[in-house]
This record gives sequence, C-alpha cells and structure tokens, in this order.
Amino acid sequence: MALLQIAEPGESTAPHEHRLAVGIDLGTTNSLVATVRSGMAVVLSDDQGRPLLPSVVSFDAQGLRAVGFEAQAKQSVDPKNTIVSVKRFMGRGVKDIAHIETMPYDFVDAAGAPGMVKLRTAAGVKSPVEISADILKVLKDRAEASLGGQLTGAVITVPAYFDDAQRQATKDAARLAGLNVLRLLNEPTAAAIAYGLDNGAEGIYAVFDLGGGTFDISILRLARGIFEVLATGGDSALGGDDFDQRVFCWIIEEAALAPLSASDARLLLTRAREAKEHLTVHGEAPITARLASGEYVDLHLTSEKFAEISGTLVQKTLAATRRTLRDAGLTTAEVKGVIMVGGATRMPQVQHAVGKLFGQEPLNNLDPDKVVALGAATQANLLAGNRAAGEDWLLLDVIPLSLGLETMGGLCEKIIVRNSTIPVARAQEFTTFKDGQTAMMIHVVQGERELVADCRSLARFELRGIPPMVAGAARIRVTFQVDADGLLSVAAREQTAGVEARVEVKPSYGLSDDEITGMLKDSYTHASDDAFRRALREAQVEAQRLLEAVTSALVEDAALLSADEREEIDAGMLQLRSVLVGDDRLAIDAAMGHLSEVTAEFAARRMNQSVGRALAGKNIAELPI
Ligand code: ADP
Ligand code: MG
Repeated sequence: MALLQIAEPGESTAPHEHRLAVGIDLGTTNSLVATVRSGMAVVLSDDQGRPLLPSVVSFDAQGLRAVGFEAQAKQSVDPKNTIVSVKRFMGRGVKDIAHIETMPYDFVDAAGAPGMVKLRTAAGVKSPVEISADILKVLKDRAEASLGGQLTGAVITVPAYFDDAQRQATKDAARLAGLNVLRLLNEPTAAAIAYGLDNGAEGIYAVFDLGGGTFDISILRLARGIFEVLATGGDSALGGDDFDQRVFCWIIEEAALAPLSASDARLLLTRAREAKEHLTVHGEAPITARLASGEYVDLHLTSEKFAEISGTLVQKTLAATRRTLRDAGLTTAEVKGVIMVGGATRMPQVQHAVGKLFGQEPLNNLDPDKVVALGAATQANLLAGNRAAGEDWLLLDVIPLSLGLETMGGLCEKIIVRNSTIPVARAQEFTTFKDGQTAMMIHVVQGERELVADCRSLARFELRGIPPMVAGAARIRVTFQVDADGLLSVAAREQTAGVEARVEVKPSYGLSDDEITGMLKDSYTHASDDAFRRALREAQVEAQRLLEAVTSALVEDAALLSADEREEIDAGMLQLRSVLVGDDRLAIDAAMGHLSEVTAEFAARRMNQSVGRALAGKNIAELPI
C-alpha cells in the first residue's frame, strides 16, 4: 500500500493540492486544450466527445458569435462574417498578410495602431486578438467545466518563428479570454516535451508539422534541458487543405463536371477532405455526392492514385526541410529523431517520404494533432507547481531573434543575441554623438541583419535630461530584459545625472494597455448583452413556430371552432404578432403562454378527430392491441 504523505506544519502547499492548469494549442485550423490528470497528459473533449475545436468564429448582425463547428458550418453561406485562420492575422499589419486580396474579409486599418489589421463584420469591427480570445474562451470554459474548477493558468503555444508582436498579440488574446498565461511555449518545443525528450535526451531533433494550411519545420537542439531552435522554415501556404484541393480537382476531371456553383464546390471540397482522411487507414475511398445541379458523383479514389496526384505537395515539404537543414548547417544524418506533428502528417505518403528522407522511422505514436497540446499541458502542470518528486527542473527556451538597438548610420547593435536562453537580461553602455546633446532616441529592433532597415522595428523611446557634456562623455546604460515568454522590456539610464527612461516593448502592431482594458470592459458589458440577445432571439423563433402551427391548424380544421373561440384565438395571434417585433422577451413569453392556453381545447379536438379518422373503416381485429 502506498504511504500517505503528511505535510509539515506551515509548509506552503499541501502535497495533495492540485492546481488546475491547462495547455492550449491555438492552431490555425484547429485548437485544443489538454491537462495532466493522474500524471498523464490528456486532451479535453467537448460535450459531444470531440477533441478538436475548429479555429473558426462567425458573427451575425445581432452581435452573436458562434465558435468551432457551428461557425464552420456557416463558412460557405456567409464567408465575410466567418473568420477562419485568424492566427495568420495575429500581430500583423495589412502589409504583412500574404494574398490578402483573395480573402473574403472586409479589412480595416486599426485606429490608433496604423497598419494593424482589423476586420469589419456584421457584429462590428473586430481585431484578430478579440477573435482569438473568443476561441480561447470556449476552450477555457470547456476545461473549467470538465475539471470542475477555476484554472490557475495556461500554457499557450505559438510557432517558433512568431515574433514579439505575434507573441504579444497571443498573450493579449489570452488575457482577454480571462486566462492567466503561465508561459508561451514554442510549438515544436511542446511537441518534443510530449515525447518526453526533455528528460535527458540530447541531440538534434526535427519537428515536421503539417497542419491544415501551414507547413513548419523546426530544427531543435536539446542539451541539458535547454531547447534551442537552430532553424525554422516551411511554407505558410501549404497544408492539408492543398491535398483536399488536389482530390477536388481530380473529382471534377474524373466526373467531367460542368463549372460548379459555390455550394456544390464546398460540398465536393468536404467530400475530398473526407476521402483524404479515409485513405489514411483504407486502401480506397468512395466519393459520392448529389449536386444541386442534378449531377451525381460516384467515384473511387485509391491510395496509389491519391499519392500520385499529391506527390508534388509532399515533395515541396521535403524541399523546405532540406533547405532548413542546410540553413542550420546540418545533414539529415545528424538528426537523432523526427517528430511528426499536425493532422496532415497522418497521410501515409507523408510518413513514408519523411522516413525515407531522414533514413529513420519518424516518431509518430502520439496523435499528431494532439501532441502540441499534450506537451503544453505537461509544461503547464509543472509551472503551476504540480511537480512530482524529482521533477523539479524547469524547461528553458531560447529567444528566436536577436534584439538590439539602432546606432549612428542606421546600424543595428545586438544586445541579446538569438538563442540566448530566457529569461535573460543584458546591458550595454552608449554615449552621445554631439557636444551638448541632452536627449537620445532609442530605437529597439529585432532581427539578424546588420542594417536597421532590414530588421523589424519594435519600439522607439526618448531619454531626455542628459546633462550637456562634450560628445562621448555621457554614459548611458541600456538594459534589455526578456521574460520567460520572450517578451522584452528596455530601460535606458544616464549614469551621472541618473535620469532614466524605460519601455515595456509594445511591438508596433501590438495593442496598448488602454485598448486591452477597453476590450475587457467591452467584453464584460457585451457578455450580458449577448446572453440577453440570445434569449430574445430564441423566444422570437419559438413564437414564430407557434404562430405557424396555429395558422396551419386553422386552415385545416377551422370548422371545429365556434365563432367565439375563433375570435379569441385570432386575438391571441394578433397580440403575439404585435409583441414579436419588439425586444420585450417577457411580453413575448406571456403572449405565447396566452395563445397556447386559448388553443389548448382546439388542439385536443383536432387530436380526437384524427384518432377518429384513423379508426374509421377498420374493424376491431385490425387494431393494434
Ligand atoms: P493546424 O495545426 O493547422 O491547426 P491540424 O494539425 O489540426 O491543423 O491539421 C489539420 C489538417 O489535418 C486538416 O487538413 C485535416 O484534413 C488533416 N487531417 C486530420 N486528420 C487526418 C487524417 N486522418 N488523414 C489525413 N489528414 C488528416
Ligand atoms: Mg498545429
């Protein structure tokens, strides 16, 4: 029998106290939430047993939103108000987004942060941060319902290549959703943790992540519990969706279909995805569909044919992988293990090709679409303080891009070089350029290039009140500090007079604290608004249904009513119609109650009559006993 542990008096946390912490994979296509239960990382499913939440949010004119499967269903009917792949817009400006002109959304420049993307929807202008917060909120609610309590915190994963602005935007979204972010974690690092590689594994690992619309390849070096991202690469416009597209084209060609309507195209695209997923475990997939055009599709796709038509896509992932390895100065032989991540790596031809490229079986015994969430959950569990004996280590991550500042001549002086483990702080001294100079502009940049023009500008701030001295005499100490999430704060201090200026680096496309506070307030006020509107809408729909039922009953069976009764019912309907257009839910409920009451006797008579009709003309022997 296991011994029970007893805490010493005054010890901070009782051994049995388990803090609720989750890992969240906020994906481009699908999002998940996971936790550690009885020492095992598990993904939490929704009330219908579905682990994945499609990263889709839709809005309507009533200001209501739907998230996940419900929103996904609206994609073909209302693309402008159904936001998919919002992750691509996080912390980005209009200029940063590839193929923006092909997207069905109404983009607007954000006031206050020029260049930052927002979307105009039927429910108003929404920022990517707010839309991501809607997704996170659903996962938070799911976790709290399933774990039966409030969450202590969450680890949220981001792609390794996410810059400061994208990370900050992700953190803001979490805050807006009411989550306490324990740490942002790189997705490939999370996958490595899920495979337990943090426990003593050393060497180079490749993380091959083929999701719905993106392909990311990351090369990690593990040494002494430190994960170093040596290189990242991939293709932001290549994923499982492209394989669907290939099958879709094959169907059109094979069935010799005429040009399709938008809804037929969407139907066939869904069939294509189903066929692709079917082929992961079967040698052949049936594809059948009845189109609105009247045409009938009835085809069979074999796995050989599928591999043939999607071959160039697989080749593209391999080319990007080779390129990334080359960037890191490595050969495939130096890679100790390959981790498969992303639902699309389930395809056998992908597994096969990756295995062949690296000359070894990839690690794939965990569900590829869950591994990132599972690793994040493991890390969250540790950070929340739920450590088992001997697990008192803390994972270290490294910063992906060098941080520095602009010096004379538009040059970039790096203060913290990339791959420094975080948290980290570094300081460097600078001086004035001109005699009597009393102010200095500090321009914080991120990137590996020498010229500031080639790096990403993060922030500018001014240090004023430098005592006038000859050029080169002042000593200004600039300190860069990066916290465990990879977020930066910069301080500048003049040493003789002691004047100081500092910035929390709010990246160019980030949101200000005021904006966040405003949004938080908004979301609170709107929460009750939203609930009110939903209840009103439901009552209206219900009332409409009742009116229709009574109307059709009157058409059929008005003869069953006396003139007085008929008058009473007509009056009841009239009254319900008059309150239906307003927004007084209680009045609608009352009028519905009244109409149900005055039609109760009518309904009973109709019932009797139909029973009578059913029995007429049958003899007793034919009746069911
Ligand atoms: P993301 O990381 O982009 O959010 P996921 O990792 O959830 O995306 O991957 C989604 C993709 O995985 C979709 O294209 C989906 O069709 C594909 N996928 C899921 N299951 C399978 C399967 N059994 N076989 C092939 N592809 C699959
Ligand atoms: Mg993913």
